[in-house]
Amino acid sequence: MASQRVAIITQDEARWELPDWQRQQADLITDPAELLALLDLAASGLPESLAAARDFPLRVPRRYVDLIEKGNPQDPLLRQVLSVPAELEAVPGYGVDPLEEGDHTPVPGLLHKYHGRALLVVTGACAVHCRYCFRRHFPYQAHLSGKRWEEALEWLSARPDINEVILSGGDPLTLTNRRIGQLLDALAEIPHLRRLRIHSRTPVVIPDRLDDELKRLLSRPRWRTVLVLHANHPREISAQLAERGREWQQAGITLLNQSVLLAGVNDDLDTLVALSDGLHEAGILPYYLHQLDKVAGAAHFAVPDEAALALHQGLRGRLPGFLVPRLSREEPGKPAKTVLAG
Ligand SMILES: *Cc1c(COP(=O)(O)O)cnc(C)c1O
Ligand code: SF4
Repeated sequence: MASQRVAIITQDEARWELPDWQRQQADLITDPAELLALLDLAASGLPESLAAARDFPLRVPRRYVDLIEKGNPQDPLLRQVLSVPAELEAVPGYGVDPLEEGDHTPVPGLLHKYHGRALLVVTGACAVHCRYCFRRHFPYQAHLSGKRWEEALEWLSARPDINEVILSGGDPLTLTNRRIGQLLDALAEIPHLRRLRIHSRTPVVIPDRLDDELKRLLSRPRWRTVLVLHANHPREISAQLAERGREWQQAGITLLNQSVLLAGVNDDLDTLVALSDGLHEAGILPYYLHQLDKVAGAAHFAVPDEAALALHQGLRGRLPGFLVPRLSREEPGKPAKTVLAG
């Protein structure tokens, strides 16, 4: 018993030493009732909300909750994170592995679908759980068990045709700088890797994640680094995120954004225009606007293709070409993502 208590005290003390972003990541809201209470919302539908969260837990950093409008059950940011009864409905055509990614996994933790690029699933964890996420049923344990990254590194070393490595997950920026540094050191030994890409939503929900140490790690001359963020709504681009974004751009890191087109979140022209404008102000360029992957539990977010194409056409009429994201969809068995409108 005594030794257990010592362990607990040590852990508490260690928590004080953690960088800001890690403390925020350890202090998430996981209870739908707490989220609703913080936002002055009635607890209607709470039992179903709790049931939906059992399958894919609710997970929201407090900094993100600050961006949500109080008293508005339709808030577009809230809609992305609150588990709702609609997730429990079975909808034909919506399954658990919509991208058939299991077929593209030569070694655990590595996806190879597209020419020259390999995607590393470096962690199953995310700082936020997005209710529309296609990874909500992903068998992370199968990917992350055993020898972790070793096999993936060996596979990459033996494939000179791969010149870009994409760190993904889950969310790679939930890992500590130390862990990311170790992985980058190992990848740096593989001479044919020229581009390093990181896909992450963490900086959108915890802007403090873009800290100086990580910036140093990613702006090393060994790499041309591209950081692809994931913001869906202009209000997600907080003043702090915009400030860091501009700093990182000045450090020579290319910043892009991918969004998912989501009913009730960003499926209107003014919102998408404001999103592109806000990204540009923050030193970030729009890259993709994805049509939703047909994952079970997310059907209520779907936007029909005709409506998506009309929105894209509208963007072309309102913005310079470089602020119009490519409207695209991921389809199993294709040599690239399908671009519906560029
Ligand atoms: C999306 C994706 C990529 C990157 O595709 P780009 O069009 O280059 O952004 C690479 N590998 C996998 C498995 C992907 O899903
Ligand atoms: S951060 Fe990305 S991977 Fe994680 S739940 Fe959200 S969309 Fe899915």
